[in-house]
Amino acid sequence: MRHFSRSPWRQLREGVYVATLEPTGVTVGLVAGTDAVLLVDTGSSPAQGADVAASAHDLLGRPVTHVVVTHWHFDHFFGLAGVPGVVSYGHESIRGKLGSEAIDPEVVRDELGVDTADLVPPTDDVSIVKALDLGGRRVEIVHPGRAHSDGDLVVYVPDARVVFTGDLIETSAEPSVGPDSSLASWSMALDGLLSGAGHAPDLLFVPGHGEPVGAMEVAEQQAALASMWASSEDRFREGVTLEEIVADFNGPRRYSWPFAPQHVVDILPFVYAELERRGVTRRRGLPISSV
Ligand SMILES: [Zn+2]
Repeated sequence: MRHFSRSPWRQLREGVYVATLEPTGVTVGLVAGTDAVLLVDTGSSPAQGADVAASAHDLLGRPVTHVVVTHWHFDHFFGLAGVPGVVSYGHESIRGKLGSEAIDPEVVRDELGVDTADLVPPTDDVSIVKALDLGGRRVEIVHPGRAHSDGDLVVYVPDARVVFTGDLIETSAEPSVGPDSSLASWSMALDGLLSGAGHAPDLLFVPGHGEPVGAMEVAEQQAALASMWASSEDRFREGVTLEEIVADFNGPRRYSWPFAPQHVVDILPFVYAELERRGVTRRRGLPISSV
């Protein structure tokens, strides 16, 4: 069983707060308007979601009224069931994850002590974009396309010049790529986020894990993701196997990668699977034999 805990809330900008939750170091956000209070992400269990909402109520003297779940991964989503009676938003694909093989009840029970029967979907689906008026402050909820997951949402608070990126950006570790990620479109999704920085140079990006950063760091992560995709595609087209890439880390190092060796080894199977899905042609046999 993992250990659950919560840091105190910290104010980033006027009426915009963040806190960090264990077991995964997920960053949750709080945006206060004059009429409504928005919580961004909910933690790893219904009990943790309830604790986060209660601490937000203590901080502001008012209850949370709205929630955005940036994506369906447990550390962002499972706490939602602990925040009843609110309007909650998630990408339209989240609903289908509950009860599907994407969420294994046994693993969830053993790791988190959570009964998957207790989990609830968001009350409102977002397919592309949704604007919310919190009272004196507007927020925009945007699906930037498939990126870290198959249903990411980002939350933009224009007057505070803050963007909650979910796991599109991570600063406490290298960006996490899984079976539902798309490296092909991830860097394009970050283009959309970065375009806002042209108008607001002090735009602050709050990652799903780690400390907030400016546009420069987001652009660096975008370049690394684009390079990961390009290098993987080159190797895939050349017919280089995953085993050969692992061997290359210990040998001649013919190939270069934007991430640490272990991270590349961890995420390459998912990247290769995406290349396969996209029908990228793979060379069979040695280059010399293909005329
Ligand atoms: Zn995630």
